[in-house]
Amino acid sequence: MAIDPTEPYDDDNIFAKILRGEIPNKTVYEDDHVLAFHDINPQAPDHILVIPKGKYVSWDDFSAKATEAEIAGFVRAVGHVAREAGMVEPGYRLLANIGKNGHQEVPHLHVHIFAGKPLGPMLM
Ligand code: ADP
Repeated sequence: MAIDPTEPYDDDNIFAKILRGEIPNKTVYEDDHVLAFHDINPQAPDHILVIPKGKYVSWDDFSAKATEAEIAGFVRAVGHVAREAGMVEPGYRLLANIGKNGHQEVPHLHVHIFAGKPLGPMLM
């Protein structure tokens, strides 16, 4: 069920529970602003999710309300995770689903990192 991005932040969403340590995750990177972990249902040989620690429903919410430090930290962390995983060569894909038409299911901003094989053209 895709989310309505105008809804207030839901503290019971699954990524909020991961951030509180209530649900396990396979962490690949963590700092003051960001957690990155393996997707539980990978859609590519390498599929990592990067989330801010702040309570942001979506990219829309984050880009409008996050501090400069949170935004810089998040953007840098996505690049860092991909570099550390050796994805830069031969390449990778970033994706953020936003709202109903974007098919966002978890109402806490996350960027997907896909890699590990030629991914082909974007599918709509
Ligand atoms: P979609 O499912 O349409 O890609 P999202 O962009 O909201 O929608 O993606 C949510 C992602 O979170 C999915 O790729 C899903 O496999 C992943 N996911 C859900 N629960 C967990 C979990 N407990 N640990 C890791 N990844 C999870």
